[in-house]
Amino acid sequence: MQHGLGRGRCDNEVRLDQGAIDAQVDVAREAELHQVIGLGVVHEDASLEPTAEDRRHEEADRFLGDARAEFQDVGSTGYATSLRSKGFAVGTVEHFLAVLHSYGVTNLLAKVQSEVPIMDGSAEEFCQALEEAGIEEQAGECSEIVIDRPYEVRAKGEEAIRIEPAETFSVHYVLRYPEPVGEQEHRYTYLGPETFKAEIAPARTFGFLRDIEKLQTMGLVGGGKLNNCIIIGDDKILNTELRFADEFARHKILDILGDLYLLGRPMRGAVSAVMTGHSDNIALLRQIREGMNL
Ligand SMILES: [Zn+2]
Repeated sequence: MQHGLGRGRCDNEVRLDQGAIDAQVDVAREAELHQVIGLGVVHEDASLEPTAEDRRHEEADRFLGDARAEFQDVGSTGYATSLRSKGFAVGTVEHFLAVLHSYGVTNLLAKVQSEVPIMDGSAEEFCQALEEAGIEEQAGECSEIVIDRPYEVRAKGEEAIRIEPAETFSVHYVLRYPEPVGEQEHRYTYLGPETFKAEIAPARTFGFLRDIEKLQTMGLVGGGKLNNCIIIGDDKILNTELRFADEFARHKILDILGDLYLLGRPMRGAVSAVMTGHSDNIALLRQIREGMNL
């Protein structure tokens, strides 16, 4: 695995006024993701394969269907972000896309069933799968989206997300819930895949016990186990120890990193968000897309 390719190289070595120009990046070999469900049944839920940009659709058409991880194919944005195309949908793409964003992978054929496996609710195993597959540069160019002016989405109450021009890509997230969550904030600056892997990728999906039926519907709680997300009860976390004191804020940053990759190119700008979710992230993307004619 050659770390430092992709966005790492983008930020550190090559910088042009119109955005750093980088090679397109793909996985070198195939890799598979396995998720243990129920009593130790191993399902092959997804595989990653190298694919050149111009071969992507041709190959994908041999399978169930083909959704491009792009803004135009965004379907629903409730608890998770889904892609929809030609009558089928792929759910929960954001954690996987956050990994591709952070490793600078621009071309990839991911074969999945109806949704990207949730794994343990974090992005750790996607990092491992990508590293197992290896990363290589391809011919072709990919430029960062360099934010040119502030864009902002304001929803109800204090819920808001904003991005403004900056030299680096960073996300500052604040959330406030009643105890046991309380107020949390985290500030993340992208410095390469290693910082992402240490700081953001391990942060897991979370949900409230009172929403358990919705979580079950989403497949976040299934197989008789409660190990696919952090369950928050009335006065304590019910099923696990937190990996970070501010794990919830970090997970929200993971979601933002994934959603902001739906314009298909890495982004440079400073994001600040309070109590936002996928719908706000996508609304911000819409503004950026229109404002910058992307
Ligand atoms: Zn998430």
